[in-house]
Amino acid sequence: MASNSIPMCDLLSQYRMIQPEIEAAIARVLNSGQVINGPEVTAFEEEIAPACGSKFAVGCGSGTDAILLALAALQIGPGDEVILPPFTFFATVGSICRIGATPVFADIDPVTYNLSPEEVAKKITSRTKAIMPVHLYGQCADMAPLQDLAQSHNLHIIEDAAQSFGAEYQGRRCGGMGTIGSFSFYPSKNLGTYGDAGLCTTNSPELASRMKTLRNHGMEPKYFHKMIGWNARIDAIHAAILRVKLKYIEQWTVQRQAVAARYDEIIQNYRLNSYLDSPVAAPNRRHVWNQYVIRVADRDGLVAHLKANQIGCEIYYPLPLHLQECMQFLGHTPGDFPVSEAAARHVLALPMYPELSESLQVRVIESCSAFLRTTIRRAA
Ligand SMILES: *Cc1c(COP(=O)(O)O)cnc(C)c1O
Repeated sequence: MASNSIPMCDLLSQYRMIQPEIEAAIARVLNSGQVINGPEVTAFEEEIAPACGSKFAVGCGSGTDAILLALAALQIGPGDEVILPPFTFFATVGSICRIGATPVFADIDPVTYNLSPEEVAKKITSRTKAIMPVHLYGQCADMAPLQDLAQSHNLHIIEDAAQSFGAEYQGRRCGGMGTIGSFSFYPSKNLGTYGDAGLCTTNSPELASRMKTLRNHGMEPKYFHKMIGWNARIDAIHAAILRVKLKYIEQWTVQRQAVAARYDEIIQNYRLNSYLDSPVAAPNRRHVWNQYVIRVADRDGLVAHLKANQIGCEIYYPLPLHLQECMQFLGHTPGDFPVSEAAARHVLALPMYPELSESLQVRVIESCSAFLRTTIRRAA
């Protein structure tokens, strides 16, 4: 990348800071001779569970595996419906389909981009087994009304917390508010490893034990298979890397919050509030700023301008799930989820990482300003 470019995310500068500890952790695993399961994984699970507000944590191969394990452990399958937002990463809906259940979309809130409890209420049927809120961009969904709905209809909540490690709702950590929580440690997530890994959290000892069996081919004891599981294990190397990163995650979260506050301030200083909408942290929530997502009328024009100026940006997500080619079998058409469709047209994530400096942020906003002031349309 050119020297004056600004990346979306900067994994190397964080690595440089903790390099000796990371390399020592990897060496410890290699020297132990135990690279699958074992004490490193157990220690990781014990250390991370409280940070997810949960009694138990089960490491696994990816965030996608975590969602699959949650659904499998709850014995959700053919004939069952799971309610989710259409505005999320594909893995949320892909996992529901892979397990044989039917995804049922409910539209999102236009301000937080998270599942709208009112829309969920309209989608509950006698076949509904679970609600799957996604805590998008680092902020929790509105859990209290969702928990009320789940309780009164006897449904499970599976929290897709892949983007929100450490986020809180009314003082409670995400991952511990539903029946099961799922996390991803994909490198670009706010807590990420150097490869693929994921995690399930729960307060139920039975579900934790079932997920541990399922991630290892449903095997208990060796070569005797109780359930049809698969290989969804976490590598010991990733557990060791994440144990190092866990010591820094609170500090990195505070830095992300400072970066977000500075963006807000710079946007105000440039008087851009009539040209773009800054992201909103809803009350009673701890936002961990996995992404800083603005909303603009001519989003695609702004993307082209930023790219031309070597400023990283990303669209999470350009096409809602109900309009994806592989979801045509559900029979949806444009207009079915207007809030998600509008979000897909107008959102844009700006560079966000703990080490992002104020001077680079000023350059990002300056560049946005130069483009937006040449257009007259207000943010949609
Ligand atoms: C990243 C992500 C996943 C999938 O995680 P992987 O580790 O890439 O499998 C699932 N849901 C959401 C919302 C995500 O952002």
